[in-house]
Amino acid sequence: MAERIDGQAMAATVSGRVARDVANLHKMRGIVPGLAVVLVGEDPASQVYVNGKIAQTRAAGIRSIEHRLPADTPECHVLALIETLNHDPQVHGILVQLPLPAHMNAAKVLDLIDPAKDVDGFHPVNVGRLSTGTGGLVPCTPLGCMLLLESVIGEFRGLSAVVIGKSNIVGKPVAMLLLERECTVTITHIHTQGLPDIVRGADIVVAAAGSPGLVRGDWVKPGAVVIDVGINRIVAPDGKRRLTGDVAFAEMDHARAITPVPGGVGPMTIACLLSNTVQAAWAAAGP
Ligand code: NAD
Repeated sequence: MAERIDGQAMAATVSGRVARDVANLHKMRGIVPGLAVVLVGEDPASQVYVNGKIAQTRAAGIRSIEHRLPADTPECHVLALIETLNHDPQVHGILVQLPLPAHMNAAKVLDLIDPAKDVDGFHPVNVGRLSTGTGGLVPCTPLGCMLLLESVIGEFRGLSAVVIGKSNIVGKPVAMLLLERECTVTITHIHTQGLPDIVRGADIVVAAAGSPGLVRGDWVKPGAVVIDVGINRIVAPDGKRRLTGDVAFAEMDHARAITPVPGGVGPMTIACLLSNTVQAAWAAAGP
C-alpha cells in the first residue's frame, strides 16, 4: 500500500512555522508582515481562492491588505495601484489574483510588481533566479511539491523525475527545483510522444496537466513517489460533483508514496504563499 502524503498536516506545520517567524519578526524588528491581494472582477473561483488566502493570512498574524476592483477597471488603474504597493513599506508581498479580465495584459501587470515583493514568484527576475539557482522567491505550488517530496525522499541526487505539464506556474518551476536537487528531469506536455513509457522510468512523478486520471497504475514503476498537482472538477458515476487529480489514485498501491486530491498539494500552496511573504518581510528588514 502506498504511503499517503498528508498535505493538510504538512501545510499546518508550514503555517505554524510562519506564525512563529511572524512573531519573531515583530519581537526583534517591530515589523508586521503585510500581504496585499489584488482581485479584479467577480470570477467566483477567484473569490473563493482569495477569501481562503485572506483568512489564512490573518490566522498567521500577517496583515492582509485587500484591493477588490470591478471587472471594468482600466488597466492603467491596476498598474498605478501596483506602483503604490511597490512603494508602501507596510506591504511586503503583492499578489495579483489570476486570471485578470481579458482587456488586461497580465504579463505587463505582473512584471510591474517589485521582484522583492513578488510572493507568487512569477516575475521574470525571480524566474531567472530560480533557473540560475540564485535564490529569489519561488512559486508557491512548486515549493509545496518540493516540501511534500522532501517528507518522503532523503536524497534526490541522481533520481529520475518526470514532470507532466510545462506551465510557467507549475511544470517549469517544479522541474527547475528538481534539477537544482540534482535529479535527472524530463519535462513533458500535451505533444509528448510515448508519455507512459517516459513515466515508467521515473522515480518521481509530478503530474500537473489538468487531465483527470491521466496517469494510470501501469505507467508508474513500483516504489516511485507520485505528486498529483491536478485539480479537476468532475461528475462522478453517482452523479455527484467532486474534485479529482491527474493520477488514477486507486491504481497506485505499488507506488512508494502519493499525494491525494484533495488534501495533497492544494493546502500547501497557501501555506507557501505565507512562507514567501514572511521571507520577503525578513529580507526587507535587512541584516
Ligand atoms: P496549464 O493548463 O497552464 O498547463 C497544463 C500543462 O499540461 C500544459 O503544459 C499541457 O501541455 C500539459 N498537458 C495537458 N494535458 C496533457 C496530457 N494529456 N498529457 C501530457 N501533458 C498534458 O495548467 P496549470 O496551471 O499548470 O495547472 C495544471 C493542473 O494543476 C490543473 O489541474 C490545475 O487546476 C492544477 N493546479 C493546482 C494547484 C494547487 O494548488 N494544487 C495550483 C496550480 C494548478
